[in-house]
Amino acid sequence: MSSRIPGFYKLSPAKRLDKIAEHIELGEEEKDILRGNGGFSVNQADQMIENVIGYLPIPLGIAANFKVNGKDVFIPMATEEPSVVAAASHAAKLAYESGGFITSYTGSIMIGQIQVTDVEDPYGAMARVHENKEEIIKLCNKQDPTLVSLGGGMKDIHVRIVPTNSEEMILIHLLVDTRDAMGANAVNTMAEAVTPLIEKITQGSVVLRILSNLADERITRARAIFENPFEGDKVAMDKFYKAAQLAIYDPYRATTHNKGIMNGISAVVTATGNDTRAVEAGVHAYASKSGQYRSLTRWEIGKDNKIIGTIELPLAVGMVGGATQSHPVAKLATKIMGVQSAEQLAGVIASVGLAQNFAAIRALASEGIQQGHMKLHARNLAVLAGAKEDQIDEVVNIAAKHESYQFHEMEKIVKSLNTNRKR
Ligand code: NAD
Repeated sequence: MSSRIPGFYKLSPAKRLDKIAEHIELGEEEKDILRGNGGFSVNQADQMIENVIGYLPIPLGIAANFKVNGKDVFIPMATEEPSVVAAASHAAKLAYESGGFITSYTGSIMIGQIQVTDVEDPYGAMARVHENKEEIIKLCNKQDPTLVSLGGGMKDIHVRIVPTNSEEMILIHLLVDTRDAMGANAVNTMAEAVTPLIEKITQGSVVLRILSNLADERITRARAIFENPFEGDKVAMDKFYKAAQLAIYDPYRATTHNKGIMNGISAVVTATGNDTRAVEAGVHAYASKSGQYRSLTRWEIGKDNKIIGTIELPLAVGMVGGATQSHPVAKLATKIMGVQSAEQLAGVIASVGLAQNFAAIRALASEGIQQGHMKLHARNLAVLAGAKEDQIDEVVNIAAKHESYQFHEMEKIVKSLNTNRKR
């Protein structure tokens, strides 16, 4: 299977789906779910959250040209933002010939926190927690026999004392291997169940017992070697490097730099029914681990002026649990990707983040992003300017001829089309 389909972007949505279905073996019923003809209903939505009145469709695009760990992969991306899918696909093409993206994973370890207060002897209590570690682990694992049967479950504890304004609190971290689940519910259940035992051991009072979204025991790394897009233009290359450097040292730039990375990451996280807020909170906290908010990526110039990119981030994403299997489109998104484990899914997501970052820096350091972005955003602006569905193409074409995609230009075009229509 090759993720490179020449001219994929020029096809109609129906033809694109046919192409994907050829490679992935999607049945008619599955294709219908992706087309939005059934598969997801208000009744289903009503089973997912509260007070449902409907649902919000978001475009689902496919990023092409990705090879991850030697395997070609189509990547479904759910996003409302134009140019994200195109940018990822374009960058992935430049990494394809040198072998695509290579990833690594530290494992599916999530952290559950238990906050113990009103302890008479915090250091003594901390020692007693360690002494009773096996009993704590046993009780936690009793809560999730499925996870344990899969080789997961609680593996270890970390304990520390947190000095606060009022007292020295004990903070216990439960380290739980959640395998192919994101694991929030699994960890929260364990943390709540073990609370009485912790209170008995510490003689303190437990306040919070919940997952930490700073999943820094669940780190994914990706690297790739990109063709130099600047064709020997040393000035452009230098600008690329300097732009990337600024994001390591300046938090204002780092925030926008990482936002661009998250354009890709959150789109795949959404498409697979995973929790965007959990991933985003974790990623941004991790970007601050040095005490200053910094870039998640590093860029280096290698042999023959090739560009070497690396990314490192916590990715708490799953293949089971949450909405990953209960949302029919999310389920198909993972099928299209062909990933079999949380590790593989996280590897693909990190690769998209790296590709997205390459595309953004390349554009920013050369022609700027607005020209390309506004062209793709033009259809949204045309609608905002009042274009009816059958007028959108015409409005965008006229704007392209005028070489301006500004809103006021669009308004003028729509007005003149409507005046002509009335005549
Ligand atoms: P879950 O409870 O729906 O499913 C996980 C369970 O599936 C496991 O506990 C295990 O018993 C079972 N399982 C079956 N096959 C498995 C496999 N191969 N690998 C691992 N487990 C397997 O989901 P979850 O992942 O525990 O929780 C995720 C959900 O929790 C998300 O919807 C998230 O939005 C939500 N949530 C998040 C937070 C937070 O991020 N702070 C807090 C609460 C809830």
